[in-house]
Amino acid sequence: MSRDLLALALPSVQELSPYVPGKPVEELARELGLQPEAIVKLASNENPLGPSPKVTAAISQALPELTRYPDGSGFILKDKLAAHYAVDPNQITLGNGSNDILELIARAWLAPGRNAIFSAHAFAVYPIATLASGAQCREVPAKDYGHDLDAMAAAIDSNTRVIFIANPNNPTGTWFDQAALNAFLAKVPSDVLVVLDEAYIEYAADSDLPDGMAYLSRYPNLLVSRTFSKAYGLAALRVGYAVSSLEVADILNRVRQPFNVNSLALVAACAALEDNDYLERSRLLNSQGMQQLEAGFKQLGLSWLPSRGNFIAVDFKRDAAPINQALLEQGVIVRPVAGYAMPTFLRVSIGTSNENQRFLDVLTSVLKQA
Ligand SMILES: *Cc1c(COP(=O)(O)O)cnc(C)c1O
Repeated sequence: MSRDLLALALPSVQELSPYVPGKPVEELARELGLQPEAIVKLASNENPLGPSPKVTAAISQALPELTRYPDGSGFILKDKLAAHYAVDPNQITLGNGSNDILELIARAWLAPGRNAIFSAHAFAVYPIATLASGAQCREVPAKDYGHDLDAMAAAIDSNTRVIFIANPNNPTGTWFDQAALNAFLAKVPSDVLVVLDEAYIEYAADSDLPDGMAYLSRYPNLLVSRTFSKAYGLAALRVGYAVSSLEVADILNRVRQPFNVNSLALVAACAALEDNDYLERSRLLNSQGMQQLEAGFKQLGLSWLPSRGNFIAVDFKRDAAPINQALLEQGVIVRPVAGYAMPTFLRVSIGTSNENQRFLDVLTSVLKQA
């Protein structure tokens, strides 16, 4: 692209580094001259179970209607979510992935002269959405790689409109408990929107993590975002949602694309929400896989950040890039996190037990050679 056009973009957009996704399986297979089946991808926190058969059946049934626009209001899905969480359907905003929700928030509240607060080592979309709106990023140093909520509350100034917090956080897997969230919400002024990103909350059931939904009635400036991409296994379809006060939902609805969630995503999400068995299997596979990887790391003498997500950040205490490269050469894709200021770590998504074992075997041989 011409330099002149870049110079004409918003100054904050000139600063912006694009999101770097996990390397696609097909791309590495091509590079190595292997079949895609020979590659193990543990890089994008995807659900290793594959889609629920109930979801694929619902999609097949919806195919004859592909010529029609989706229901732009997402009526049926919102109705089901509202019943699931015992909230008013008008408190729900659907998004093309919860990524879309983050962007809608930025579009509605952020602009040059305003700022958004988030933690160091937090999800990469927070700075992207903020800078794309021309607003300023206030990144607050982390505490033991987790959110320092006291410091984040202290960073609020008169230009702060949004605070993004993720529980658990990606890529660190760190989390905060109910007492920490209580103390934080009590400190945030009511004119600052708190975005509680719970993309992985389904993996943290029966833990000390707070359930963001339980705080909504007390805090009209709180928005809880969740997704069907992770524990529900629908990453390809792009469907997520926010639950908030009616007022916040009304504002988001004003800036939303009329048909931001496609028809197949809508029917798939409805089917997924009702498939409790799938969710239970996702959780079980994840906790078993987490134990498997932790045991493997322990055996290798490696340290890691304890995680409540479906991924784990392992610390090699030296530049992890050559280790990542060696893993790739043997057909294993994990996620470098140097872009998150964690150059000595790799983030590994929890896979099936076979995938986890293959990763551990290859890692063992790579570390022996290094
Ligand atoms: C994966 C992820 C999301 C959202 O993903 P979508 O697929 O857009 O719903 C949001 N926040 C965090 C922290 C994530 O890791």
